[in-house]
This record gives sequence, structure tokens and C-alpha cells, in this order.
Amino acid sequence: MSDTKNTPAHEAVKPANFLRAIIERDLEAGTYAHRPFGGTPGDAAHHAAGQPDPAKVRLRFPPEPNGYLHVGHAKSICLNFGLARDYGGVCHLRFDDTNPEKEEQEYVDAIEEMVKWLGWDWNAFGTPHLYYASNYFDFMYRAAETLIERGQAYVDEQTPEEMRANRGDFTTPGTNSPFRDRTVAENLARFREMRDGRHADGSMVLRAKIDMASPNINLRDPAIYRIRRATHHNTGDKWCIYPMYTFAHPIEDALERITHSICTLEFEDQRPFYDWLLENLADAGLLAHPLPKQYEFGRLNLSYVVTSKRKLKQLVDEKHVSGWDDPRMPTLAGMRRRGYTPAAVRKMADDTGASKTNAWIDYSVLDIALRADLEEQAPRAMAVIDPVKLKLTNYAEVFGSAEHREPCSAPAHPHHPELGQRSFSLGPELWIEREDFAEVPPKGFFRLFPGNKVRLKYGYVIECTGCEKDADGSVTAVTATVLPDTKSGTPGADAVKVKGVLTWVGVHDGVAAEIRLFDRLFTEAQPDAGGRDFLSVLNPGSKKIVQGYLEPSLAHAPPEARYQFERHGYFVTDRLDHRADAPVINRITGLRDSWAK
Ligand code: ATP
Ligand code: MG
Repeated sequence: MSDTKNTPAHEAVKPANFLRAIIERDLEAGTYAHRPFGGTPGDAAHHAAGQPDPAKVRLRFPPEPNGYLHVGHAKSICLNFGLARDYGGVCHLRFDDTNPEKEEQEYVDAIEEMVKWLGWDWNAFGTPHLYYASNYFDFMYRAAETLIERGQAYVDEQTPEEMRANRGDFTTPGTNSPFRDRTVAENLARFREMRDGRHADGSMVLRAKIDMASPNINLRDPAIYRIRRATHHNTGDKWCIYPMYTFAHPIEDALERITHSICTLEFEDQRPFYDWLLENLADAGLLAHPLPKQYEFGRLNLSYVVTSKRKLKQLVDEKHVSGWDDPRMPTLAGMRRRGYTPAAVRKMADDTGASKTNAWIDYSVLDIALRADLEEQAPRAMAVIDPVKLKLTNYAEVFGSAEHREPCSAPAHPHHPELGQRSFSLGPELWIEREDFAEVPPKGFFRLFPGNKVRLKYGYVIECTGCEKDADGSVTAVTATVLPDTKSGTPGADAVKVKGVLTWVGVHDGVAAEIRLFDRLFTEAQPDAGGRDFLSVLNPGSKKIVQGYLEPSLAHAPPEARYQFERHGYFVTDRLDHRADAPVINRITGLRDSWAK
């Protein structure tokens, strides 16, 4: 175990996860035992001068700070930090910020906040393992010159079109560039000119010199440096050349002494280049053995959700949602605001394991995880979401006065008596759900209709006598009479048998609230399948705002307080808009999966 405080404790049951087997094998074989670690990222000499690494394994979560984290990233975070926790290692948070144009401080801050919210901590063994790839630009430049000196890289001045045409395809080998056989001196001079701003953006690139006939197209002399005049959020205008991702990423891993570099399946074909590059730089004495190894797993795809930062950004920019933290967004910021708990997100990540295929997971796994977390801890409360008034016409007679308030109570949680009781009271007028009354009951309807008796939960049995209507014929109030001596919990209360039990809130003590009812953002399980425009399947009913009433125990609820509203599901007070004097409540999810067939 690392010495982290915040890190969630080891969770008991582990689903199939081939990455565990790999790490266990490496630990058994001692592959990474007795490695020195320089205390900070660095080259071979830096680490050689260090101490034995206290971390048994090193993993990393390497987001590009070009957007907010989404549920797919949560999967990767929990996988990497979870493996580090379980195997006595460390997980680094590394901003993969080698692309100057799209990266912003706002995203850096939001990413840090969400990793912490999920419960993970990059502080371990007395050091914060928070790194920026852009701090390695000097080393990357040195690595590029080293490859040139070894005759393993060259400056190519072909146009992008020529390069594309000469790359070949799956059936045709590529054609060597006319610039491929330049001398080392010529290549070094040209590369330094690129660095010094002597050439236009896009006019030439540095390429690794491997094999234009390789069956793996990624080994056909991949570009490793390009010219791009753009201000970088960390290095400013120091550089006008930037490393390509495929070159930068393995180097970042090696400098940080990552042992297991876990990525998604689309990088599988990059692995031979990853190994080629690191082995050559180790040969040249720049990097230390044992080198990191890349392993690929299937990305998480959740039904009814898009997990591409570009598409999420489009939803925000075009105002289809209120922002990155709109409660319908599959961003961690959105899921947090919606009311999902960090434990639920971690459980979803754990329950979906790690495999070698890109599986589609049903969105309900998240709701199942949420219910598993909240069922045991969320206080219960009654709320009326679609209110209609219930008038108890004999109230004054039964209780002696219309002003009388009959105290009622219920456990805050049915399995946790230590959480105490909640109290509320009965009066002559109550709010009930509109759907709990039918003038003409459909078959099997056990709730209010004229002549039928039901129990007011934690209260009395009442008998429906009819309703009041407006000029249009819609019901404005339901009327009923109270049966004396039927109060829940008093002797003889069960003498009158009823089939229906209604939730309710007193008109006199209910708290008016804005209730936001969210639903899936898309109407199709795979919104962007087959190149479909995902905006064409936006669910127009994904957000409904209603005015409802809450029982008085919620009068002073703080923001981000979660409840189970009896019969309705799980709700949370909105972390931004909720005020004690003007409650705003989000529905997280129902008590069961209403979408299941
Ligand atoms: P996007 O396509 O949304 O931009 P990305 O993969 O480009 O996502 P990065 O910031 O580069 O975003 O991702 C950081 C890490 O998260 C990477 O290691 C990536 O493999 C992982 N990741 C991203 N999406 C998923 C997903 N759906 N399932 C599992 N891991 C993911
Ligand atoms: Mg990416």
C-alpha cells in the first residue's frame, strides 16, 4: 500500500482483469524489483543516482488537458490508480500536454479536481506524482538528435500529399522518401533550423527511419517532430517544433519509470514503435532499463452516451446542454452534479473489469452501482413531485380543530435506527401525487377513487369521497375523510385493511422545491453509430423541471445531500443552485431500472 490517505480501501471482489495477471507475473518474476528511482522523472543517469524505488509498480493516467473528463476516463483512472493501490505501487497523474493548440489551464484544474473527487491521490511515498509532459520537451529534443546521430531519423521535406501517397497501404509497401538518405550532418543541421524557426509550419518533419515496407504502417518512418508556431500553455513561445504523440508518450513513460503503461486498444499497432523507440534510446544510454511496457484494454462504451471530448465540447459550445457540468452530461463534472457518488463510479469501473474487446456496457450498470451505494446510506424522505391537493373534510371533527397538527414520524433509514426519526405532521390539507387519484379506477387500481380506503404512509387510513374540478374538468382537489383510531403504530391501527399506501406531504409544513427530472440525453443506444450525426438523436425530453413539495426534514438540507424519496428514487440537492430557502433537487435515478423491458 502507498501512504495515501484518500485512497479508497481495497474492494473485495475483483472481476476478470487480465492486467492483474500481468502485474502479478511481473512481481513474481521480480521484473521491476531493485530499480533505482531518482525521486523525480529523468534520464538514465538521473535514476541511476537515485534510491531503490519504494513503489513496486508505477502506472499513470495521462489525460490531454483539452476538455473535461468523461465516464470513459473514469474507467481508466480507476483501473490505473486501483492497480497501483492493490500492488503496492504509485499512479502518476500526467498531463499529456504536447499539443499546444487545444490545451488550457481550465481543463488542467478540472481534471485534478475530478481525480480527487473520485477519491484518488497522486501523493505517495512523500512525493506528489503530478507531472506535465511539456516539462520533458528538452529531453525529447535531445532524444530526437540522438536518433539522428544514430542514423535513425531524418528530416523529410516531402509535401504532406507526397508523404501520404508514398506511405502505401495495407496491401502495398511504401516508397522511400527522396530525403531518406541524407547524411547525419545534413539532418542535424536541418533539424536545428526547424527548431530555430527557419522554416515554415508544415514545410518539413522529422521522421524515424525504420522500414517503409513494414506490414505495420506505423513503422513506415513515422513522423516524430513537426513545426508548429503556437504558444504553449506551459512553455510559451520557447518552441516552434513539437513532438508527435507517438514519440512523446513512450518517452514520458520511460522518464517517469512507469512499469505498466495501460492504454486503449486503438494503440495496439503503436506498440512496436513504442518498443523500438525506447530500446534505441536505452541503447544510446539515455533511458534506463527495465523499460516500460504498453498493454492495451478495451475502452468503455456506455449505451446512450457519447464519450468523445470533441462531441461533448460540441454539445456545450452549441448549447444543447447548460455546460460541461450539465447533469445529463457523461462528464465526471456532470455526473457529480447529477448526484452520482464517487463510490458508484468506482464500482461501475470495477464491475466492468478489463478485457481485450471494446464492449458496449449498458448505462444501467451505473445506476445499479449508485443504488448499491445509496440504498444503505441515503436518508429516506417523502416528496410529492406532481402535486394535487387532498382535503380531509372531517379533519376538525376527528382532531377537535382544523388548527390541530397531528405529529407523525418515520425512521430516517429503515436499517439504521441510529440515524433517528424524522418528524412531520398531518393537517387538514395535504399534497399527494396526481396519479394517486382516479375518478374511474382502471382495473387493479388500489389508490384513491370514490369509496376506496387507503393508508397515508406513517399516518391514518382515509376514505375517498370524491374530487373538485375546474371549468375545464381537471381535478383541482381530492376529498376524503379520516378514519379515527387508525394511526400507524397505535393499537388496533390495522383493524381496517387497505391495499394502497400513499406518500404525502402536509400543505402546512411541506417545503416547495424545484425538482429537475433528467433522462437520457439520446434516444438511441449508440448515438454516433455508423457515422450518424449524434445531434439528430438528442432526446427532447431529457430535462423536465417541475415544482413539487418535500417533507419538512429537508428544510435545511445542504447542497449535494442525497436522499431516497420513498417510491420515487434517488435525489440530490443541486450543488450549485440549491438554497435552503429555495431548494433545487435533481433526480439521480429511479428505484429500479424503468428502461428495462
Ligand atoms: P477522447 O477521445 O474523448 O478525446 P482521449 O482518449 O483522446 O479521449 P485522453 O485525454 O488522451 O483522451 O485520455 C486519457 C486516458 O483515458 C487515455 O489513457 C485513454 O486511453 C483513456 N480513455 C479515454 N477514453 C476512454 C474510454 N472510453 N475507456 C477507457 N479509457 C479511456
Ligand atoms: Mg487522446
